[in-house]
Amino acid sequence: MNGFDLLLRGGLVIDGTAGPGAARRADVGVSAGRLTLLPPGAPALSRETEDVGGLVVAPGLIDVHTHSDGVTLIDGEVGRDMVAASVLQGVTVEICGNCGSSLFPAPPERLAGMRAENRVAFGGDVGMYTGFAGFAAAHAAVPRANHLASLVGHGTLRGGVMGPVDRAATPGELDTMCALLDRALAEGAAGLSTGLIYTPGTYAGTDEVVALAAVAARHGKPYVTHLRDEMSRVEEALEEAVEIAVRSGAALHVSHHKTAGRFAWGRTERTLPRIAALRARGMDVTCDVYPYTAGSTALGAMFPPWAFEGGISALTARLADPGLRDRMRLAIAEGVPGWENTVGNGGWDRVSIACAPRHPETEGLTVAELATARGQDPLDAAAFLLLAEQGEVTIISHSMIEDDVRRVLAAPYSMIGSDGVPKPGGRPHPRWAGTFPRVLGHYVRKLGLLGLETALHKMTGMAAARFGLTGRGVIADGAHADLVVFDPDTIADGATFADPLAPPAGIHSVVVAGRTVVRDGAETGARPGSVLAT
Ligand SMILES: [Zn+2]
Repeated sequence: MNGFDLLLRGGLVIDGTAGPGAARRADVGVSAGRLTLLPPGAPALSRETEDVGGLVVAPGLIDVHTHSDGVTLIDGEVGRDMVAASVLQGVTVEICGNCGSSLFPAPPERLAGMRAENRVAFGGDVGMYTGFAGFAAAHAAVPRANHLASLVGHGTLRGGVMGPVDRAATPGELDTMCALLDRALAEGAAGLSTGLIYTPGTYAGTDEVVALAAVAARHGKPYVTHLRDEMSRVEEALEEAVEIAVRSGAALHVSHHKTAGRFAWGRTERTLPRIAALRARGMDVTCDVYPYTAGSTALGAMFPPWAFEGGISALTARLADPGLRDRMRLAIAEGVPGWENTVGNGGWDRVSIACAPRHPETEGLTVAELATARGQDPLDAAAFLLLAEQGEVTIISHSMIEDDVRRVLAAPYSMIGSDGVPKPGGRPHPRWAGTFPRVLGHYVRKLGLLGLETALHKMTGMAAARFGLTGRGVIADGAHADLVVFDPDTIADGATFADPLAPPAGIHSVVVAGRTVVRDGAETGARPGSVLAT
């Protein structure tokens, strides 16, 4: 009789499916990277046997929304705790390439320029790749603990083919974008993402995105979108996404669904029933959510999109011009059609600085506080910081209310995505290190908002099905041996806004590709992770 590599005895298996039989007592054997379910106590040989009595054995968690595309590629500048934060929660697959931004594909002649732009955006040299294969090869050269899958970013396609210009694509440019996307999806990218509040994605009209989403549809892969507005015009933005899905035939996945800013608070009472009605009609619409009332993005996204036309050097010139700063102030006060306008919906006192590497003394302050400290108007203070940091400052925006977050978490088609933005230094949003234990501890155990099986299904089987991760997200005979073992009575997030990378409690072990990568809450040093083609 052939033995197992690892045998988990005595645990409660929650298998990642949605069905009523999702939880049962079983032993789980691992051999050659695959799983076998055994009746409790069944005789079996194993090189290593662990008693996991009292613990839950679940499929490895899938973080469907990250910006971790390059974090392991940055040489020597990223803290170990930053890189480890995801796998320490039990995440065995991260899906990056979200919000319109990915590290591929690019026309060869644009590689060097985009690599330089990425160096600024990702806080280190993460490279830029002509296709998915090059992206996967770069990751293969720096072994990682868990797996990574990537979407293709529309902003990346547009910026690569057209540059940072505010105009419609010509038919030729759109054909080139579609061809690059088609090849990347054929090579294994997981879908198409847009970030329609960000430049250059925001310069695109609906028709351009329809054409690209149709390419994703041909591959049976989803259209994943950071909506054009998540604030006062969130319902119109959702309708644009629905139109794109209907016209292209692609499945629709709404990223980090929220209704943020005082004018949109409570609006999930309308967006969620709208999604439910579409689903009832047979449309394939899903979303993801992170369990916090604060968001995080770039300080630059607080400025009107015209400020960015022409790229960073043009932005720098505009920010230095007092007359143009007055125009930006007016744009924030009055709004600009088609622009989300976070500050106009909230205020500079709700925007705090997360990462400003050259001015760490500003990290943790709100922009309003920074302005007071500098004796300036808030927009001038924000412009100062953006100039000093060459355009790259991460902010945290306290823009949501708890009721909306809970409603999205409880929606039967929502998955969990951290939206983590791991970069060197600063005080990032705690969601990168806390999202999954926070849902399981705070929202499942403490508040009872969701059942444990339901919450785990959102983090595993539902996510694997959405993103084409075959043989993952379930515990079944022959499934990939990605697992998390945790204590349902103690699991809790440790990360806070003050201590954003503090590890979670209650994670017993994490297995990736049949190898134990986390034991008793600490990494073992095993690096079996790879880039997954879907
Ligand atoms: Zn986003």
